[in-house]
Amino acid sequence: MSGDLGMIKHEELIIPGQELGTLEEYLPGENVYERDGKLYSKVFGKVSVKNLRISVHPLKEIPRIKEGEVVIATVTEVKENVAIVEILAIEGEAYRGIASPIYTAAIPISQIANEFIKDIRLKLRASDIVRARVISTQKGIFLTIKPPDMGVINAFCSICRRPLRRVSGNTLRCDHCNTNETRKLSNLYGKYFMRGDKYGSDPRKI
Ligand SMILES: [Zn+2]
Repeated sequence: MSGDLGMIKHEELIIPGQELGTLEEYLPGENVYERDGKLYSKVFGKVSVKNLRISVHPLKEIPRIKEGEVVIATVTEVKENVAIVEILAIEGEAYRGIASPIYTAAIPISQIANEFIKDIRLKLRASDIVRARVISTQKGIFLTIKPPDMGVINAFCSICRRPLRRVSGNTLRCDHCNTNETRKLSNLYGKYFMRGDKYGSDPRKI
């Protein structure tokens, strides 16, 4: 059976780390992993179910990136004064996904938050998924995550890699390791989804 996947719709765009369901509902297929009985996507792409096996297929379109656009990106490296990211998708009338070539972009430390930052690693870490706005494409692609709806939308425990739960403000918790971490969080943290030409924080309203 395909088409009805419960909360997740067939062909829906999925971000890395997004929960897809449980082992009682599906078997993990391509680009899907299991943690504590729950299934998560490894990649940005479209979801499908075949013979109870749920898979996520990476997108292959190659769009151009313009100033002012909002992108979804994964943090690949955090340096002293800049975070390096790879852009996964551009929000727009229709989501445009990116598979190849890889667009590498930078988030300068001055574009992370309004307050002074003494350690960038308390705001961003490798493998975080961020929602960011393009501020320049002149000498490379530069992004900002200062606005409240920009910033980290999915993050993983530094120790065990499980998805982190937001407890308050910019604080995240790993219930498995009993540890807290901080990030510059988007107010869409853990609630971000994409469906057709829309995005938002409550899938049931769409
Ligand atoms: Zn952990």
